[in-house]
Amino acid sequence: MQEINIENITTDPLIHPVFLNAGLSADVLRLDKIHPIISGNKWFKLRFYLDDFKISGKKEIVTFGGAWSNHIVATAALCHQLGIKATGMIRGEKPKTSSQTLIDAAKFGMHLEYMSRTDYKGKQLPENFNDDKYYLIPEGGYGKRGMLGAATILELNNKNKYTHICCAAGTGTMAAGLLHAALPGQSIEVVSVLKNFTGLEDAILSLKPDLQARLHIHHEYHIDGYAKYNKDLIDFMNDFFKQTSISSDFVYSAKMFFGISDLVHKKYFLPQSRLLLIHCGGLQGNASLGKGTLIF
Ligand SMILES: *Cc1c(COP(=O)(O)O)cnc(C)c1O
Repeated sequence: MQEINIENITTDPLIHPVFLNAGLSADVLRLDKIHPIISGNKWFKLRFYLDDFKISGKKEIVTFGGAWSNHIVATAALCHQLGIKATGMIRGEKPKTSSQTLIDAAKFGMHLEYMSRTDYKGKQLPENFNDDKYYLIPEGGYGKRGMLGAATILELNNKNKYTHICCAAGTGTMAAGLLHAALPGQSIEVVSVLKNFTGLEDAILSLKPDLQARLHIHHEYHIDGYAKYNKDLIDFMNDFFKQTSISSDFVYSAKMFFGISDLVHKKYFLPQSRLLLIHCGGLQGNASLGKGTLIF
């Protein structure tokens, strides 16, 4: 398997008419280039859990996610690379045909267990997992270690240049990490990809308290909910690719680019603002779209 390579990450200027016409400068931090499968923020969120696992004396990692979870497949690939045994607790009954994500996770040697949605909600582990040898990583890497790992994302480039740092949020772990690493005067502009996730602000601030004033959450760009999409979003993704040569995923990064472009269009940002958009990858999830939907 291809190794993770932080050196592959670049900061590219965003050459797109909406941004240029508004007199803004915008760069994209290409975390999608880190690895084809362990893409985006997932390695960053996992790194300190893995360090902690190594000194914990525990034998095996257990984590949680849905059938198309970037976190599950990233954990599987990383554990494979490091020679760590891993189990993924998957939300819902075992489907007749597995998602590509779960096929890949299993290829990386991850053991998969399916949980009913009720058990999953309560994170009620089956009895045989109540053993000291298991090291639990929360769903999506949510937690202090995930937040601190995500904070190291901003060590990759010259963060001083920017007035706004823009990202998508699921659990909000990455947004909390960015808030942790950002400088005074910088704001974190977060596009929530879940419908009506009013608890997102609390989820972020409980990992990184006291910086509420620098955190701006945009709830209008989930396009009907998590992993939902419509023709407008697909058209946007294809057009964005034509303009910028940047591929995006329909669950997270496309909604972030779509949302931030719309905010630029609506003059949310003052002229002369300097934006950094974090591209968190997630491209493996596009495999769930029909063939021919995307031009990339
Ligand atoms: C996981 C993921 C996110 C969201 O990260 P959170 O820390 O859960 O908010 C955003 N973009 C992509 C591509 C992801 O895979």
